[in-house]
Amino acid sequence: MNGLPAEADVIVIGAGPTGLALWAELRRRGRAPLTIERRSEPAQHSRAAVVHARTLEVLDVLGATPELLRRGIQVPIFRVRDRDRALITIDFRAIASRYPFTLMCPQDETEAVLRDCLGKFGGSVTKPVEVVAVRPASDGLEVEVKGPAGGSIVKARYVVGCDGGHSIVRREAGISFDGGTYEEGFVLADVRMNWPLDRTEVSLFFAAGGLVVVAPLPYDQYRIVATADDAPKIPTAQYMQRLLETRGPDKELAIIKELLWTSSYKIHHRVASTMHQDRILLVGDAAHVHSPAGGQGMNTGIQDAIALTEPLDRALTHRDENGLVAWAEARRANAKRVVRMTDRITRAATAGDGAPRLLRNAFISLIGHIPGLSRKIATQLAELEVN
Ligand SMILES: Cc1cc2nc3c(=O)[nH]c(=O)nc-3n(C[C@H](O)[C@H](O)[C@H](O)COP(=O)(O)OP(=O)(O)OC[C@H]3O[C@@H](n4cnc5c(N)ncnc54)[C@H](O)[C@@H]3O)c2cc1C
Repeated sequence: MNGLPAEADVIVIGAGPTGLALWAELRRRGRAPLTIERRSEPAQHSRAAVVHARTLEVLDVLGATPELLRRGIQVPIFRVRDRDRALITIDFRAIASRYPFTLMCPQDETEAVLRDCLGKFGGSVTKPVEVVAVRPASDGLEVEVKGPAGGSIVKARYVVGCDGGHSIVRREAGISFDGGTYEEGFVLADVRMNWPLDRTEVSLFFAAGGLVVVAPLPYDQYRIVATADDAPKIPTAQYMQRLLETRGPDKELAIIKELLWTSSYKIHHRVASTMHQDRILLVGDAAHVHSPAGGQGMNTGIQDAIALTEPLDRALTHRDENGLVAWAEARRANAKRVVRMTDRITRAATAGDGAPRLLRNAFISLIGHIPGLSRKIATQLAELEVN
């Protein structure tokens, strides 16, 4: 069915950014994983817009970074603001990386660059084929799939779940996904607008009504993300304009000219109880989901994936799983760190009104003057403290 083999060393389930990065790096190392994706066409939306320095570093090995740099725009500053007042400036120019900035690049473009890498290393995604079950088998697992031509079973020594937050691999393995859901909703819009601030800055407005983040995107666009208790299912330009007027710059107003894409959603913060169980590995959103604050989601997934390839290669060649155990522990500890960090930012950004807000703003302003702190925060956001 669909040209699927009866068996493969590794089956990668899901061809989002995590699965694509894993697959490309395994191919570069001379492996031939089977990669299965249920969508017939790649997702078109921009979703994760920030590519951090550490991700650019790890993707260098695939030769993907120059093309990402060509498609994205370099933004060196994250600035927390209360309307027109800057509270703290996080300057990525101070980080110890050959990429001292954040790259703003829509996720569909990042995925396109990763798919191009595959052209270079050979192979193609098997799609549209959906994994419906994963079961233990002798010396590995068997994966049941369904596609346009019917169903079949493929045996594998290892199965890697890169299948997102609702991962079937995680569910089939009975791995719990502990955490919770933020009370407030989030709205997102990609727009063209007259924006009074510089395009070298991502602005995070910690306002009385909630958080609003404005980030420049390529092609003269902007990404707006905001918390919203009354989030409509499909936010309109008027709705987003009102958020900017009540939470954004006060002296000189932003004016939305064109709404290009919009979405509203609830956000979960959860980490899988393990990322390695028997011959199953969980990577990316399948293993951890969290607030978009700081733009960590896709970055952490890609880094999980690239870090997995060496120990997985070793396990396949030498039947030595020590590296996989170490990988799972280190990456799960990192996922927990990311969840804690993004949770702190989200809670600080949504501190409400009155005295708590004044106290919070005073505290943020104060720590902004601590020597070296801006650099430390930038280093953490860029995930440079992680090996
Ligand atoms: C609206 C929105 C905005 C976001 N904004 C940001 C942001 O600003 N910054 C940030 O860092 N992150 C953001 N994210 C999160 C980011 O998009 C994810 O962290 C990232 O996509 C995770 O990549 P992944 O490859 O692990 O999972 P996914 O991108 O979810 O990919 C999983 C893939 O697996 C496939 N799949 C699932 N189940 C099966 C199955 N049973 N069989 C076969 N294939 C299957 C899916 O079709 C999909 O292609 C946003 C997400 C959304 C939805």
